[in-house]
Amino acid sequence: MNFLEEKILQDGVIKEGNILKVDSFLNHQIDVDTIRQMAYEFKRRFRGKKVNKVLTIEASGISIATLLGNLYDVPVVFAKKSETANSTDDKYISQAFSFTHKKHNNVFISKPYLSATDCVLIVDDFLADGQAARALIDLVKQAGGQVVGLGFAIEKGQQKGGSELRAEGYHVESIAIVEEMDWRTQTIRFRQQLPLPLSKAKLSLG
Ligand code: 5GP
Repeated sequence: MNFLEEKILQDGVIKEGNILKVDSFLNHQIDVDTIRQMAYEFKRRFRGKKVNKVLTIEASGISIATLLGNLYDVPVVFAKKSETANSTDDKYISQAFSFTHKKHNNVFISKPYLSATDCVLIVDDFLADGQAARALIDLVKQAGGQVVGLGFAIEKGQQKGGSELRAEGYHVESIAIVEEMDWRTQTIRFRQQLPLPLSKAKLSLG
């Protein structure tokens, strides 16, 4: 079991309606050490990819994107969900249906922060049906940039997002993939993923 699967088993709470609550380390309170481990794990899994921008969507992807952007030494951009009165920039705009809030959100990025020269690594906290990810991909495409990969802390493998994106050829990496979870018994089964020896993981971070 990897560090995130262990953390989920220790601190996650399964809610009715196929919701995994991880407020204590990711969605409300942030456990910086866990987020730092995620950033190193994404850097390892996307080894060899040219990345010059890390992109996420507000709010819970921002902590992961920030530490990952710091490792790559590249800018971090987050798509916004609500208009700010003081922004006069032209924007790329897309739409995402929110799995947790059950409504459509406009998401946007001001044009100066995304361009055709960008090789973008998209990261987020959860992958469920892939709506948020698709909105981010759409924004990158509108700018003429390239999506080099998508990294998620937690993928809910019973939902279609991951399988659809992989079938379309995107490089998708999820640190923990939930195959099944039961709110009545508070049990979770994760998809088996190839473990990597710690020494090798350390060597491959450069
Ligand atoms: P998708 O757009 O892939 O359908 O859903 C992903 C988004 O919905 C994530 O950005 C995340 O905020 C939220 N989400 C989906 N499922 C869960 C869940 O089980 N727990 C939490 N905390 N957020 C979720």
